[in-house]
Amino acid sequence: MKQKFSCPNCKSQVTRQDKYFPFCCERCRAIDLGRWADGSYSIAGDPVPNHEDDEGHSIH
Ligand SMILES: [Zn+2]
Repeated sequence: MKQKFSCPNCKSQVTRQDKYFPFCCERCRAIDLGRWADGSYSIAGDPVPNHEDDEGHSIH
């Protein structure tokens, strides 16, 4: 059974057999990895403020 996937970057069709799966090519993979490095992708959404640290500052 052949499953079809689309490149996360350009939406081209890729297969599991592709060398750069799940990307269609090295370029798309590099672009996608670059986004992660840039911080354009955010795993947890907005940065979480450190509330525990705030409490520690009440008494200086
Ligand atoms: Zn692509």
